[in-house]
Amino acid sequence: MELEYFKNLLLDRKKQIEKNILETSSELEELKNIEVNDDGDYASICTDNMIDNAINEKQIKELNEIEEALKKIEDGTYGVCEMCGEPIRKLRLKVKPYAKYCIVCREIMEKEPK
Ligand SMILES: [Zn+2]
Repeated sequence: MELEYFKNLLLDRKKQIEKNILETSSELEELKNIEVNDDGDYASICTDNMIDNAINEKQIKELNEIEEALKKIEDGTYGVCEMCGEPIRKLRLKVKPYAKYCIVCREIMEKEPK
C-alpha cells in the first residue's frame, strides 16, 4: 500500500526530529546550569545557544508540516497539490513526504516576491 509507505516515511522522520529536539533541549538545560566565570566562555555559550535555537525552529516547523501531512493521509487528501489540486509526483513525495505543492506551483511560489 503506497499510502502506508508514505505514512511510515513521515512517522520515521517525525520520530527522528522529536529525538533531535529532545536532545537539543536537554543540552540547553545543561548549559544553563554551568557557572560562567569569564566573558569568553559566556560569548561562546551564547553563540551555541543561538545556533541550537535556529536548528530547533527549523525542526519544529518541519514537525508541523509532517503533522499536517499525516492528517491529510487520514483525510484522504494526501499527495494533492494545495494550489492547483493536481497530484504531486511520487518521486517528489519520496524526497519530501510532507510536500504541499507540486513542482510547478513550488517554482511559481519561489519566484513570487513576498
Ligand atoms: Zn500544483
